[in-house]
Amino acid sequence: MAEVKVTHLNKRYANTMALDDVTIGFAEGEFYGLLGPSGSGKTTLLRTIAGFVFADSGSVTIAGKPVERVPVEKREIGMVFQNYALFPNMSVADNIGFGLRVRKLTSSQIKRKVGEVLDLVQLGDLGTRRPHQLSGGQRQRVALARAIVTEPRVLLLDEPLSALDKALRMDMQVELKRIQREIGITTIFVTHDQEEALTLSDRIGILKDGALVQQGAPREVYDAPVNEFAARFLGDANLFDGKIAEGGIKLEDGTVIQLPRTGNETSDKIRFAIRPENLVLSTQPRESWNNIEVEVQQTIFSGPIATHLLTWRGHRISVMTKGGERLAAPGQSVVLSWRPESAIILAPAET
Ligand code: ADP
Repeated sequence: MAEVKVTHLNKRYANTMALDDVTIGFAEGEFYGLLGPSGSGKTTLLRTIAGFVFADSGSVTIAGKPVERVPVEKREIGMVFQNYALFPNMSVADNIGFGLRVRKLTSSQIKRKVGEVLDLVQLGDLGTRRPHQLSGGQRQRVALARAIVTEPRVLLLDEPLSALDKALRMDMQVELKRIQREIGITTIFVTHDQEEALTLSDRIGILKDGALVQQGAPREVYDAPVNEFAARFLGDANLFDGKIAEGGIKLEDGTVIQLPRTGNETSDKIRFAIRPENLVLSTQPRESWNNIEVEVQQTIFSGPIATHLLTWRGHRISVMTKGGERLAAPGQSVVLSWRPESAIILAPAET
């Protein structure tokens, strides 16, 4: 178990800044989810920590010690990738024990450690099988077992669950978190799946074009994204523009609404976001809430939740409600309301 620090990391490939001045401290025992669109630098960051990629500048330390000159196999890092890369001609137990044999442990030590880790990942009696005799989820457990059997200080996971179907993936999320807690290993997890990152992580970091846009506890980043990119990346966000006016914020149709202003806005223009679950649809305005009149386009039922697609002055708005009753037919007007404090004031996007 160890703390990992990357400081001012830069990595350029031709014209691409794969890492742009990235500084992150991964705390000991923490589960850190790295999120970002494809090409944002997630894998490059992971591979730099592992030692497969060398940064142009900046440093990586593990447990306080710089590792630039430490080769991959000496960094004491466990890794799991999307493609399990198990040895097909070896049994599960031999796959898991491979790293221990390389380290020249005795066969009785190897047997004991492999047995322990097979139990930990709940594959106790499958040690003699070959990888092709396992399901996708079981193979991924073997890959995880192989990564942790050498008791590494850090676990790096690059999209480890993305080849699994949805139900299996959710089971494996629970398992992964249980195992990570049980051994308390510092874990850095790369995913492009926002929900997965929010579910699993103690903290998340969002990358864009190689730079860290925001990091924090999942709830914190979800509730207070620093800009439009972070707001949209972590879920649906309905965006509105307004101008500071007497008595509140004036929207483009002239409606004056209230927002939780900080008082240090640098412009009279304000952009804010509201999460779909914080909007309420009804036939009447709500007192002391903000209210605007919108037109219903469509209601989509998806089990316990319904998504209502609406338009307001040419903007699309989505609202999520529990239960699926349709409030109004497409084309009809309804009142959209939200509490002033549920609006997220955004710094402008850097695009
Ligand atoms: P992510 O994992 O977020 O999808 P990557 O770290 O794989 O992103 O890539 C970041 C950027 O660096 C991308 O634009 C990618 O094309 C580029 N890149 C990554 N590895 C190489 C490489 N070996 N040679 C050239 N460009 C690379």
